[in-house]
Amino acid sequence: MFTTENLTKSFYLFHEKIEQQKNQLSELDQAIGDGDHGNNMSRGMTAVIQGIEEKQPETVPELFKVAAMNLISKVGGASGPLYGTAMLQMSKASQTTEDTCQILTEGLAGIKNRGKSSEDEKTMIDLWFPAIEKMQQGKLTKEDLVAFVERTKDMEAKKGRASYLGERSIGHIDPGAASSQLLFESFMEAGV
Ligand code: ADP
Ligand code: MG
Ligand code: MG
Repeated sequence: MFTTENLTKSFYLFHEKIEQQKNQLSELDQAIGDGDHGNNMSRGMTAVIQGIEEKQPETVPELFKVAAMNLISKVGGASGPLYGTAMLQMSKASQTTEDTCQILTEGLAGIKNRGKSSEDEKTMIDLWFPAIEKMQQGKLTKEDLVAFVERTKDMEAKKGRASYLGERSIGHIDPGAASSQLLFESFMEAGV
């Protein structure tokens, strides 16, 4: 269950992990995109943490909303509006349910709608979808997350910049799946 405490902690952890892996995320994006994914996520999550410290949100929906607004407005790349829309949908969902998987599923639906995308197109969805599925069965592990990211290697990109490469995108990890691994790890470590 998301609480104000564990969600705040999740965002701090996610920010830390993004800062630590900023260069690796941008290197992944260098191979099949424009090399800015680490910087985009760093700019976005720095703004989210600033927003949390300024606004001191006291409920789960407010926390997701602060995250959404900052990600949408501060990140230039595709990932900002996609993560931001996920957070916005999670803000809405958390007003009516406490079911973690339900809330995450609404977030995933937000990404799919915004990106006009679905599974197996080598995007962040290929982390979110199987991670939520495993979580629903009550058996998501960090090793699973690693495996889901790894699986994007064999996929051909159908959406976003990497899709310009067509078959040449095969053999590389999707950067958005890699950053989403860090988000789900953060949820797990924060005790969501
Ligand atoms: P940009 O591609 O604009 O430079 P980023 O590099 O920050 O933005 O983010 C790229 C990531 O965004 C990709 O690795 C992929 O996971 C995700 N992405 C891009 N387009 C879509 C889409 N239409 N649907 C879902 N995810 C997408
Ligand atoms: Mg990029
Ligand atoms: Mg870019």
